[in-house]
Amino acid sequence: MSLQGVNHHMTANISKMFINGKWLEQDTGETIGVMNPANGEIMYHIPRGQKADIDRAVASARDAFESQIWQTFKPETRGRILWKMADLIRRDKDSIAEMETLDTGKPLSQAKADVEAGAGYFEYYAGMADKILGETIPIASGILDFTVREPVGVTSHIVPWNYPLQIASRSTAAAIATGNTVVMKPAEDTPATALKLARLFEEAGLPKGVFNVVTGYGYEAGAALSDHPGVDHVTFTGSVETGMAVMTAAAKNITPVTLELGGKSPNIVFSDCHWDEALNTVMRSIIQNAGQTCSAGSRLLVQKDIHDRFVDALCEKMQSLVIGPGIDDCDLGPILSEKQCRKIESYIDFAKQEGVAIKTGGNRANVEGSEGGFYFQPTVLDHVAPDSRLAKEEIFGPVIAVFPFETEKEALKLANHSPYGLVAGIWTKDIGKAHRLAEKIRAGQIFINNYGAGGGIQMPFGGYKKSGFGREKGLEALRNYTQLKNVAIKTSL
Ligand code: NAD
Repeated sequence: MSLQGVNHHMTANISKMFINGKWLEQDTGETIGVMNPANGEIMYHIPRGQKADIDRAVASARDAFESQIWQTFKPETRGRILWKMADLIRRDKDSIAEMETLDTGKPLSQAKADVEAGAGYFEYYAGMADKILGETIPIASGILDFTVREPVGVTSHIVPWNYPLQIASRSTAAAIATGNTVVMKPAEDTPATALKLARLFEEAGLPKGVFNVVTGYGYEAGAALSDHPGVDHVTFTGSVETGMAVMTAAAKNITPVTLELGGKSPNIVFSDCHWDEALNTVMRSIIQNAGQTCSAGSRLLVQKDIHDRFVDALCEKMQSLVIGPGIDDCDLGPILSEKQCRKIESYIDFAKQEGVAIKTGGNRANVEGSEGGFYFQPTVLDHVAPDSRLAKEEIFGPVIAVFPFETEKEALKLANHSPYGLVAGIWTKDIGKAHRLAEKIRAGQIFINNYGAGGGIQMPFGGYKKSGFGREKGLEALRNYTQLKNVAIKTSL
């Protein structure tokens, strides 16, 4: 596939922001160059949105909310517009997947799966638009008490660069289905598919002002959105550091936040595991999106009697992976940026200083014809000390830290020895043992003899501890975007 052709397609669509149903440039004309991580070349420019643009977008979302234009659509009509979004995403799936791959670097087949998941979120929440129910509550004879779930109002969505379309779709579909309006700020590195969503919303017939996108840097546009008094709910997905800043900023206005943050998730492999399935999945869990996944299986806890054999087999598999531009759909695409690649290298330097065994990888990878890209070899760090930074910090690259354990008790202790608690995988044929661990591991999602269950739009997703709070996906997400009103009527006057 010609990169040139796709780039042309992209520039034709994405040099403006979408506010109040109009495609606008930034007032000062300042722009940000968006780089292709596969070759380091700037592909196109987006407006560098500032506080004034956020103000305009929030005002547009506020007007749309106050006018009740969206809420007064019949719920099933709202659902049909969201359903149409799913159809439009699927209609344009190939070009959207190409955009996602060029922005993020991820292999095309992974981008295609992201696009299908994006369509799936719109479909799932389309079905919920007319099923947002209240309850009647028995109080006393002569009193009718009931609850109503109402939209919260203007919702803001700050999106990271690793799964731009999926994450933009999962929270906005739930927010819009429940009658809210949206201001979205995509990551400055990967804005193409968020802007594409705006085009498709126009086509699907969403009233103007209900969905707005402002492109820009996090410290400018993102910060302006976090402490904006006109925003009623903030959904932030990204790093712990930025999540703390967003939560602090939102606290100024007592604005509720949903925080979907990072992870250092363990796969716990017992000697009675289904060997091939465990091995393949452990590898995929750290290779997918070149390890730049919040739920990446970045810690491998493996029982001592199979440790050497399992780690050797994992290294062998990793060495056979093909690294290259995502658009060629290799096994492993580039890292997002030079900065991100340096961050990974700094952890490898640290591993060397600590005397950790680097069983495979540990270096940048050269890819012929893509010399300006940011490629990193899949890497296995063995016998990492449980208190090391390598055990506790999110590296966000294809780097897995290995910890041998002897007993179930030891495995549990290691699994919970983390500031994060997003996901855990348990690999054993002993279902009792698996359940004992599932009960005691402090993480938002536990997978037994699998890791991810194929994406699971229907499953609530979110973190314990520093991985955040609130849940996206599934019915649980509807709580983020609705608030509960109680009404009591005296019926016996
Ligand atoms: P990041 O925190 O650097 O940026 C996320 C978003 O916040 C971007 O849009 C960025 O522009 C914006 N931002 C940056 N500074 C800001 C500020 N001061 N105020 C407001 N917004 C600001 O994260 P990233 O590097 O884009 O993404 C990677 C991180 O996201 C990893 O930690 C990963 O684990 C996490 N993540 C979590 C989930 C989840 O669902 N739990 C999903 C994907 C990624």
